[in-house]
Amino acid sequence: MQVATGKSVLNGIAIGKIKIYRAPKREINEELTDNPELEVSRFDEAREKAIDQQNSLYEKAVATAGEDSAEIFSVHAMMLEDDDLIDATKQIITGQKHFAEYAVKQAFDNQAKVFREMDDPYLQARSADIIDIQQTVLNILMGISTDAMQGSEPAILLAEDFAPSETIRLDKSLLLGMITKEGSTNSHTAILARSMNIPALVQCGAADESWDGKLAIVDGYNSCAYIDPTPDLLKTLTIRQQDDQKKRALLQELKGKSNTTIDGTTINVYANIGGPSDIGQVQQNDAGGVGLFRSEFVYLNAKDYPTEEEQFEAYRHALESLAPKLVVIRTCDIGADKMVDYMKLDKEANPALGYRAIRICLTRKDFFKTQLRALLRASAYGNLAIMFPMIISVRELRECKDILEECRRELEEKNVKMGRIQVGIMVETPAAVLCADELAQDCDFFSIGTNDLTQYTCAIDRQNAKLEPFSDTHHPAVLREIKMTIDAGHRHGCWVGICGELGADLSLTETFLRMGVDELSVNPTSVLPLRKVIRGIDLREPPKTAEETVNEAGQEA
Ligand code: PEP
Ligand code: MG
Repeated sequence: MQVATGKSVLNGIAIGKIKIYRAPKREINEELTDNPELEVSRFDEAREKAIDQQNSLYEKAVATAGEDSAEIFSVHAMMLEDDDLIDATKQIITGQKHFAEYAVKQAFDNQAKVFREMDDPYLQARSADIIDIQQTVLNILMGISTDAMQGSEPAILLAEDFAPSETIRLDKSLLLGMITKEGSTNSHTAILARSMNIPALVQCGAADESWDGKLAIVDGYNSCAYIDPTPDLLKTLTIRQQDDQKKRALLQELKGKSNTTIDGTTINVYANIGGPSDIGQVQQNDAGGVGLFRSEFVYLNAKDYPTEEEQFEAYRHALESLAPKLVVIRTCDIGADKMVDYMKLDKEANPALGYRAIRICLTRKDFFKTQLRALLRASAYGNLAIMFPMIISVRELRECKDILEECRRELEEKNVKMGRIQVGIMVETPAAVLCADELAQDCDFFSIGTNDLTQYTCAIDRQNAKLEPFSDTHHPAVLREIKMTIDAGHRHGCWVGICGELGADLSLTETFLRMGVDELSVNPTSVLPLRKVIRGIDLREPPKTAEETVNEAGQEA
């Protein structure tokens, strides 16, 4: 047996075989070929295979999701027969003597651009389909498998690191656990693993490709992985895993109960989600609403800019399924570690301090307006709050609100139905904390993003695993900022929540309640454990120490 240590992302046990994940590398050769005929036939073959793939996906989808959902695959197969697209690709091969990969990249990109610039939202949406089939053809040409779990049994996935966009595409039903050699516990990948309830170990330096196919245990409690565990250990940890399942089942009794302390103080406990596919988790865990819908995952999940129509459908679905519960949708927080190729963002020396989130939205106004229009249209279907990320000044907030108003007026002129919306901001920069009194006058609510607030307050890059020894998630400066934000919000009639990972830290629940927090938004699987802790707190008693709270939570959870 081999024991390898790392940093745990979730207290839990995963047992299964290891599968190595290698990120697809797609480097397009820009050189010229002296055999264009060969490239034409490579393209034809890849296209035929892509059509076959789409047809089998169609069959699979009909069986699992029904005819309507499956239709997209038959549309893709038809698009791959499109004469204009085929001619344009072959023209680049024969006319310019490029390799098939380069020709597919260029010709499909050009066609996608034409669709993207059309007025009709339906035709605009076709541009994402062109990019989708382009990726399929390129993967075939380059021998890349994109589905990490393709043909796999349920497994523990091992990788150097995962990008958030890779994590979100993993087949959750086959993912037992994750091990990465790099990565930090505060990265978005870690957040995703937590919200998927997947035991994961990051910074496991000893992880090795020779582990492929071996039986392993990820022990999130002890921050280690056991490879080829002894039969005794396997038995002990299988029992622990079953105990966890039983404890989770016991928590089910708390469904339908209020988040009320012994002395009668009630707060809202909401869930953080990454997209409509997490709605089931919100309902299963009886969250009172969604306190953070990270809308950028809608962008990370796409191969090209999601159209207004696609976004509208995603937001409408979330709002309608959860109505009348509140759903706080954060506008696109792309940038830093969350990058998508199609946005063509420059590589920066300091991405966390760089061109990201609201800074992109305020400079690419059309991009921002597409999302805001989609949100406003969706507001007719439920209880929506819009939240702007990374705000550092009242000027920025007002600019966002002006653009929102501009969108509202444009839609009103077209008689589009819209609902009442709350508007708020993420307080995740020290600047926002220090200007909280002014910001609160222009907001309905604040949601404190402790992940970034800690990063910016302590000057600790949350992506940099080397800095974890310096990081203190309970840093007094951050706790003081949380109190300052809550007080400032309340002075001006704003409700104040916490949607960063600290919201789920049970050793701080009592502290947050004593500070007067109105809402905690946590990953869906933390909702019931948090409710249990809240219901055991009595604010009339002297405050418990963090240690006492942790011990009690440990015995109960
Ligand atoms: C935060 O910064 O605390 C937050 C909730 O946003 P994200 O983790 O997505 O940056
Ligand atoms: Mg943030």
